[in-house]
Amino acid sequence: MKKPVIGLVPLVDVERDSYWMMPPYFDALEQAGALPLMLPLTGDPDDLAQLTALCDGVLFTGGPDVAPAFYGEEKLPACGLVVPRRDEMELRLFRTVLEAGKPVFGICRGIQLINVALGGSLWQDLASQKQMDAAAHEQKPPYDRPCHRVSIVPGSPLAALLGKEETEVTSRHHQAVKALAPGLEAMAYSEEGLVEAVRMPGRPFVWAVQWHPENSYQVSEDSRRLFAAFVDSCKKEN
Ligand code: MN
Repeated sequence: MKKPVIGLVPLVDVERDSYWMMPPYFDALEQAGALPLMLPLTGDPDDLAQLTALCDGVLFTGGPDVAPAFYGEEKLPACGLVVPRRDEMELRLFRTVLEAGKPVFGICRGIQLINVALGGSLWQDLASQKQMDAAAHEQKPPYDRPCHRVSIVPGSPLAALLGKEETEVTSRHHQAVKALAPGLEAMAYSEEGLVEAVRMPGRPFVWAVQWHPENSYQVSEDSRRLFAAFVDSCKKEN
């Protein structure tokens, strides 16, 4: 049987003027039975439509902060590096993939990008904007170890997938969902009430998590189940 092809948004190193990918994104998809394919950073709508047609699903990867202009805010000093070219490509790509009815999985920046694409907003910097211990979400290596607990919404598809209502996740983020976009449903929260997982109800598989299952798929059955659920939904599109 042909493996599903999963398009991945490239990481961008502005300083080195390069596109790149962290191997765990590829590895986790491959072990789940998919063929990962890193996409070009094109903004051309026709090219994005053709690339979408080529892919059975798309993974929105981690990365720098989404430019606050895309959710109608001024950039605060504590907001990190932004790469508007990548934002524009991804916002267009997400809408194109959605129109095509194909599965989507978002990781870290991916959940933030999807929330913004659907009209939500972000905390630009948890440490300076929220009364919370933001360091609890910024783990140091090794990155495959659990960092913090999340509670899973009872009755959600995530609770059904993992067969539990609480889990421990890896974490490397200083931003988070602020206003949840209409059209998204929260499936998990951190202890401080941050949205840690979402889905688009009524879609085959449009899910995103704030944590990094690609870093822990080797040691975490929960992470493997997330990738398997995504890849299985992409197989159904074949
Ligand atoms: Mn977190």
